[in-house]
Amino acid sequence: MHQSSSSREIYRAGGLLLLSFLLGSLIGYPYESTLLFLIVFLGFQFYQSFRLERWLRDGSKGAGPTSSGIWGDIYYHLYRRRKQDKKRKKRLAGFLNQFKKLTEALPDAAIVLSVDNDIEWFNKAAERVLGLKRNDRGEHVVNFLRHPDFSAYLYNQDYSSQITIPSPVDGGRELGIRIVSYGAGQRLLLAQDVSELKQLEKMRNDFVANVSHELKTPLTVLRGYLELMESGDSPKEFEKPIKRMGEQVVRMRSLVDDLLLIARLESEKLNDGSHEFVNIPSLLGGICTAAKRLDGCPELVLELHSDSGLYGDAKELESAFSNLIMNAVRYTPVDGKITVRWSESEQGGCLAVEDSGEGIAARHIPFLTKRFYRVDRGRSREQGGTGLGLSIVKYVLSRHQAELKIESTPGKGSRFSCHFPQQRMVEVDNKVVTFLS
Ligand code: ADP
Repeated sequence: MHQSSSSREIYRAGGLLLLSFLLGSLIGYPYESTLLFLIVFLGFQFYQSFRLERWLRDGSKGAGPTSSGIWGDIYYHLYRRRKQDKKRKKRLAGFLNQFKKLTEALPDAAIVLSVDNDIEWFNKAAERVLGLKRNDRGEHVVNFLRHPDFSAYLYNQDYSSQITIPSPVDGGRELGIRIVSYGAGQRLLLAQDVSELKQLEKMRNDFVANVSHELKTPLTVLRGYLELMESGDSPKEFEKPIKRMGEQVVRMRSLVDDLLLIARLESEKLNDGSHEFVNIPSLLGGICTAAKRLDGCPELVLELHSDSGLYGDAKELESAFSNLIMNAVRYTPVDGKITVRWSESEQGGCLAVEDSGEGIAARHIPFLTKRFYRVDRGRSREQGGTGLGLSIVKYVLSRHQAELKIESTPGKGSRFSCHFPQQRMVEVDNKVVTFLS
């Protein structure tokens, strides 16, 4: 349409120019009449452009002054564009309104953070949950969520999981904080009161811990009597059942011990007292010696590439490492080989347990650290496994800011490695240095 109206305008102007020249020729003034036409034509164009400028300046209300030709088309296009913009604006305003209503209705606090971690916007719930006030916009978010775990979470920029911190408004309540990144450097912080959830979790933990604890005494009594019967002159037909009962009592005892350990790991924070120096080479030496004494233990090699130790909880680390080494013994045939390697690099310390055992199919690997997850339930039971070993390893490592990596090729073997951060490492000579978390 634009193309045809502009060419129409050119034809019209050209036609009028020719007509004025012809009329001028008839009366004997062809050039004068052409010049007169050009002056009138130019004047008309100036007049139209002034009208357009005034219409735009006055807010371009309505369809614009009535005009014909190309100027009519210009007004028509501008008017149509304005109408479309208005519609779009209305739709956007509707969306914005809906978004506002939605976030206001949310029971969780929502804060939009700028690139510099300043508060750009927050919903009503943020006032109640975090104690924010209207004029707190523009303030740094750390001024309101003053907790070392939150600062570490915010600045580490790994928002794949959520953290739990005490509420800044009510110390007795707990908040689950999650940050979601969107757009260029913009983030949405969501804070939810998780006190009830935590309370339920604690109740479940306490229940498991109490039941496990209550089971300890009857198991000890049973074990004592069974040992007595085993060593005594019991009838021949009872020998096998007594032996089987003894084995099952030992299994139940290790299950109860593992459950108690998990309950303790879940409920306790690593306190200052447990930031002790742990001599890893000697700890590993002890575990490997005990493992070698087990029936059916394959060749086991301990490689110490570092004599550094770790700051941490000796009992917890011993439990984690022995779980990994005992698993390797359990799932590797007698003619296989296990290598336990302690090494150190710029990133920190690494304990790797490699075996040439049956290996694990890739689909099982993400679930191995879940409680009671076993690739082959029957086989694990037969080997005296509880299904809790790798959960314990995961808990212990996370309490030492360490990471567990599992690599495995079915039929060839597995490699379980624990990666400790540099700040946990300590050279044997420097063990007097105090650990700062
Ligand atoms: P379990 O007491 O059954 O060994 P874990 O939590 O220690 O429980 O391990 C979970 C499962 O992971 C085991 O049942 C076993 O299937 C698998 N697994 C663990 N370590 C190894 C290993 N070194 N080689 C092969 N499979 C393993």
